[in-house]
Amino acid sequence: MIGGIAADAAQGVCSRASCRNPAAWRIDWQNPRIHSGDRWKTWLACEEHVDYLRGFLEARSFPVRTDRFDAATSSDAEVETGS
Ligand SMILES: [Zn+2]
Repeated sequence: MIGGIAADAAQGVCSRASCRNPAAWRIDWQNPRIHSGDRWKTWLACEEHVDYLRGFLEARSFPVRTDRFDAATSSDAEVETGS
């Protein structure tokens, strides 16, 4: 489930279930069926799981943007937690 994966997104760690690595990437994505045009959700990913999480979304044909995540400069980012 998507919601389960994103539970730790607000804590600066990878959003992959059971992974506790610090995030190195942020993945912004939309589900066009439930999100309006400017509503993006954000997952965080470590180096190991960025490809997994991006692939998970791309497999569903969701719009995906991937950027470097730096916790020191991203404290103002609106990271959602899968609600
Ligand atoms: Zn990870």
